[in-house]
Amino acid sequence: TYIVNDACIACKYTDCVEVCPVDCFYEGENMLVIHPDECIDCGVCEPECPADAIRPDTDPEMEKWVEFNRKYSELW
Ligand code: SF4
Repeated sequence: TYIVNDACIACKYTDCVEVCPVDCFYEGENMLVIHPDECIDCGVCEPECPADAIRPDTDPEMEKWVEFNRKYSELW
């Protein structure tokens, strides 16, 4: 699954949302998040992000963001 980190904060681009085939992006307080269970791991959003905020959850740097993405995506 792919996850969004804090590099997304205040980003005005939503190119990632437009390309996602399963609409699993959600609005957090000040950044977008990905629902980790809905993401089908296609990877098409990653190169669309100008802030380089979208990474696979297998990236050790992203581990701490998994629960954050889950929490905010489930508020909707
Ligand atoms: Fe959507 Fe694919 Fe990105 Fe997952 S990897 S958030 S399914 S575009």
